[in-house]
Amino acid sequence: MVRIRSVVVMLLCSVYAAYTLTAIAQTATPPDTSSDVGDLESVTRLLLENIQALSDYRSNVTLPPIFQVPQYAIEAKVCDEPCNVSAAYVPREGIYLAANLDPIREPLDRSALLHELVHYLQQGHPKFAGLAPCERERSKEEEAYAIQNAYLASIDSKERVIFRAGDFDCESDGAQR
Ligand SMILES: [Zn+2]
Repeated sequence: MVRIRSVVVMLLCSVYAAYTLTAIAQTATPPDTSSDVGDLESVTRLLLENIQALSDYRSNVTLPPIFQVPQYAIEAKVCDEPCNVSAAYVPREGIYLAANLDPIREPLDRSALLHELVHYLQQGHPKFAGLAPCERERSKEEEAYAIQNAYLASIDSKERVIFRAGDFDCESDGAQR
């Protein structure tokens, strides 16, 4: 069993491991017409606007720092063992993206950045204030997956991510052993 350093980080660990690809038998998706999409900062701005359109978060925020680093560096940062994490939001630091992700050209990779941006916007948001820590992290994760899937649907992607509620054992957590 992979031991994770904190609940917050565990959420991120499941992001990429949980991908299912369902587009195999579909006709090819239309060519990406976003070739005029600029650099990562412009993509990030656009994603914040997408989040605003799909939720009640506001897009007019300071951009978080985004670090593109080797995958192993993210795993070392957020997990105690190799854990297949490709993207992570670390409060007070920023968003870490594995260098093999291409958020500018690959819609699924872009949706992973969007997912982490949702976590950035969730940080300190009053709507999570009344929840116990485990429930808070579970509902943040559930929301991030929902917005990510809404985004994928909005760009006509057939791909979806799966939220595993079972990763959050909040009941036994609350029992305090
Ligand atoms: Zn997440």
